[in-house]
Amino acid sequence: MPHPRRRGTALRQRLAELRGPDVPAKALDARALAALAANPGCARRAVLDGAGVDKTRLADALGSPSAFGQSQFALTRGNAFEARVKADGGAELLRLAHRKLDPQAAPPEEGRVPDLSAIGPEGRAARTALALREAVEAGGWTLLDHPMLALDVAGSPAFLEPDAVVVHPDGSWTVVEIKSFPMLDGSADPAKVGAAARQAAVYVLALEEVAARLDPAPRVRHRILLVCPKDFSNLPAASAVDVRKQRAVTRRQLARLTRIEEIVDALPEGTCFSPELPAAELTAAVESVPAAYAPECLSACELAFHCRARSRAQAAVTSLGRAARAELGGLTTVGDVLSAARGESGDPDDPAVAALRRAARLRAEALAALVDAPDRCTGTPGHEGSGTPVHDSAGTPAQEAAPCR
Ligand code: SF4
Repeated sequence: MPHPRRRGTALRQRLAELRGPDVPAKALDARALAALAANPGCARRAVLDGAGVDKTRLADALGSPSAFGQSQFALTRGNAFEARVKADGGAELLRLAHRKLDPQAAPPEEGRVPDLSAIGPEGRAARTALALREAVEAGGWTLLDHPMLALDVAGSPAFLEPDAVVVHPDGSWTVVEIKSFPMLDGSADPAKVGAAARQAAVYVLALEEVAARLDPAPRVRHRILLVCPKDFSNLPAASAVDVRKQRAVTRRQLARLTRIEEIVDALPEGTCFSPELPAAELTAAVESVPAAYAPECLSACELAFHCRARSRAQAAVTSLGRAARAELGGLTTVGDVLSAARGESGDPDDPAVAALRRAARLRAEALAALVDAPDRCTGTPGHEGSGTPVHDSAGTPAQEAAPCR
């Protein structure tokens, strides 16, 4: 069996080959990790993210551009707000952390902001770990501006950069998320807060890995500090957000991810996802990795339009949503479902097949009742009926619905 380090090097080399010659790796951010954790059954996304493939470029090259990404204006506005929040050595940020999360502690008179610069993500992650340890030993308030954290994802390290981490006087650590959506009268858009909480949960997990290497292990707080512009102004407002649930879900989902090594081993020799390749070759490479499309991908993954088109072309039930997919058990295509409902295939003892046949029977009875009583009125005075053809259970028009009088 190869030595673990040699195996790790071989995997890194294989992932670089998958990315394509001279194509730089795209770092995984917490948003991508949260989305990956939300669809742990998708080997396609796992291997593309693991290999650092730029999925936006890949989607363009496949001819299905993604509808993702912030506008340049939003990015500039967000960066300006973050700089304002962290001005004066993070004095305002530490004040907000004290007020919202730790009012019993001594107020932050003078917080420390250590220099975290180092070469490469591994170097920065090591520097961050050292700065966190020094901050705990020193006591008082410390602000780590854009620290670098490493998290093991499906056997491959992902480097993550939260907006900030605050070290409290009691040695505990808090993740800080700075967002540019407004907080109106103390509350913000719940969907955006939810997305921020899922991202922060990933940072909390990564911080816990750093904490576990210290003795005694510092406490990583499960209430994060969310900082947003107050009422459309440029002034910061903060709120403590409990991310325990998101942390537990993300942890469970990340543990369910198939190891990237196993997915890579199953790929055909010479597979490459370089956006420079001709579209047909690239499509074949992408299609060689199994996907688990669900409509939720549309708001979470750059390849959603490509995977949706493929899923529809195969009439896969996954495109109907996870709930329908779960109800249908072993029936994976719309053709299988219709055939089982008509009694042409499927095991009658299978609960999904039995439910489909019962639904088909009820539908046929309802249609037959309509055919027997075409003049039945809906009860609405003057109702003229839709004139829409009525279909039988095989989907063929049975007769025109008669207008109600
Ligand atoms: S869009 Fe495709 S690659 Fe992305 S998560 Fe969904 S199925 Fe996987």
